[in-house]
Amino acid sequence: MKNIIFISPPAAGKGTQSQMISEKYNIPHISMGSILRNEIKNFSEIGKRIKEEMTLGSLIEDSTIVELLIKRISNKDCEKGYILDGFPRNINQAYIYDKLLDKDNKKIDYIFYLNLDKEEAYKRIIGRLTCNDCQTVYNDMFENTKPKKIGICDKCNGLLIKRKDDSVKIFEKRYQTYLEETEPLIDYYRHQNNYYEIDSGLSKEYTFKQITNIIDNGDLND
Ligand code: AMP
Repeated sequence: MKNIIFISPPAAGKGTQSQMISEKYNIPHISMGSILRNEIKNFSEIGKRIKEEMTLGSLIEDSTIVELLIKRISNKDCEKGYILDGFPRNINQAYIYDKLLDKDNKKIDYIFYLNLDKEEAYKRIIGRLTCNDCQTVYNDMFENTKPKKIGICDKCNGLLIKRKDDSVKIFEKRYQTYLEETEPLIDYYRHQNNYYEIDSGLSKEYTFKQITNIIDNGDLND
């Protein structure tokens, strides 16, 4: 069983790493942000309710998030494990998730804290482009993360878009939300033996190497 969560400031790479882990270990990548963006795209009742808050960079209320999470992880494809990208995002969600897993005799196997300073996160947000279809992330500010064709996803030919919340103003709000709501999760989890701090300030390949070393060898180094 590989049940993985991330603690991560905005733009530290949890989406990219989740996708890479999903491809290597063949377990689903569950992006809470994508699930929410789809609700908005489909004009669902939930979508209409959350649209404004999400555009402003605030967290969506826990009961909605937990409802969507339970629905998704009850799918058969999650039986052998899954990667949660963007959940839990506050102490209450972490507490609810612990209880939920406990009830089914399950546990979190890996907690990865992606450590990235604010300046670097800011630089990554500004050039970030996301595929509208498969959610792959690119960055046209960095040579090695540019798409091959401008505006088109290398993987699925989908259209690359700038997320509404990837703006300078909303970044400040999202970062503040991270500090107030999500960063306290470090103290919540840090004493567990499945908690790992990952240096996310270099390349996505280096970040991934640290993660796979832990999953494959139980250690950050080869
Ligand atoms: P992300 O794609 O992970 O950057 O998430 C985008 C936005 O979705 C966040 O800024 C929040 O508004 C919302 N969101 C995603 N995950 C959660 C969560 N676990 N709890 C509350 N809001 C969330």
